[in-house]
Amino acid sequence: MNILVINCGSSSLKYQLINSESEAVLAKGLCERIGMEGSCIKHTPSGKDKVTKETPMPDHTYAIQAVIDALTDAEHGVVKSLSEIDAVGHRIVHGGEKFAKSVVITDEVLDAIAECNDLAPLHNPANLIGINACKKIMPGVPMVAVFDTAFHQTMPEKAYMYGLPYEYYEKYKVRRYGFHGTSHDFVSARAAEILGKTREDLKIIVCHLGNGASISAVDHGKCVDTSMGLTPLEGLIMGTRCGDIDPAIIEFIAKKENLSISEINTIMNKKSGVEGMSKVSSDFRDLSAAMDQGNALAKMALETYTYRVAKYIGAYAAAMNGVDVIAFTAGIGENDGRVRSMTGKYLGYLGASIDESKNNVHGDEAIISNEGDKVTVMVVPTNEELAIARQTASLVK
Ligand code: ADP
Repeated sequence: MNILVINCGSSSLKYQLINSESEAVLAKGLCERIGMEGSCIKHTPSGKDKVTKETPMPDHTYAIQAVIDALTDAEHGVVKSLSEIDAVGHRIVHGGEKFAKSVVITDEVLDAIAECNDLAPLHNPANLIGINACKKIMPGVPMVAVFDTAFHQTMPEKAYMYGLPYEYYEKYKVRRYGFHGTSHDFVSARAAEILGKTREDLKIIVCHLGNGASISAVDHGKCVDTSMGLTPLEGLIMGTRCGDIDPAIIEFIAKKENLSISEINTIMNKKSGVEGMSKVSSDFRDLSAAMDQGNALAKMALETYTYRVAKYIGAYAAAMNGVDVIAFTAGIGENDGRVRSMTGKYLGYLGASIDESKNNVHGDEAIISNEGDKVTVMVVPTNEELAIARQTASLVK
């Protein structure tokens, strides 16, 4: 089956066409500036060069049409016609408490996703627009919704409740949901597979360190805790997000700087994290280079970042009463040996350490702990698109 995987944002749309039997990526690409001047599609057929085409995309329906045109193009296409696309898998950010797994999209499912819009006002409406655009352009092609929150729905109440008046949970469902679930699910399963074990026999901590970063405790195959919360702002320090802070800081800074709550929210999401701390960059390649040149703030940002990751690993080892595997994934986790090494320095008490001779890994699967260690530390590249394609294929068969 050929599965079109769609990740739709408010003004952009990422796609991959994946053959579910061979798991090969036939083509991938990105539509940018949807609804704006200068919109374009960047399309990369497998094994060929990227082609960029400017084309008007007043809305997402035009973007989906541009994707179909690119996929079926005589020169750059990878299939002959729309009929060779068997199903569409949509990445949906928030499934609230309604979705603990992926589902085939029906009108009822669309309504239920829309009911979660409040919880992810920037993402869910855009995801829905993507689904509706596909419905228009490819009527009759089955579609599946894969939720970022679903894998975390197994968390117990004690892990997802906040210390707030219960009525906010009753009225507005204010609780921890967690994100990157597709990645935590994929990486924990793959880590066990690489070790020749089943996930159901292991206690695994997954550190998804990308631009957004989160960590999760997967106890015998089930997520029991994760660091992101009601929104993706909680938990680890990220590229531009602050992660955990004293909530009273919000009012303190609002008064000092004469800012509104929503202005502070923007600062906490877009101007904080390692970028705000270091005044250098949100990109860890830049941070590391700055640290090597003696930049004290870059060093402080990296030290604070890795200290926070190590604290969460300790917390989740406590939550699971032990840990067998620690897996690093996503852009930083897969590529940045320094971050892995700095984090590893805190893990001796658990029986985990990093063998520096194995730590020079960039995007490959690897075991990087010392032989004989009680805990296995691994690098396991994530592949959210493949996970979405697999789930879509299994649901529409
Ligand atoms: P997202 O999917 O959240 O946008 P990614 O998982 O792709 O993010 O991670 C992107 C980040 O990974 C970059 O901002 C950068 O900090 C980091 N990164 C990518 N490549 C490297 C590398 N070779 N060394 C260190 N960090 C890297």
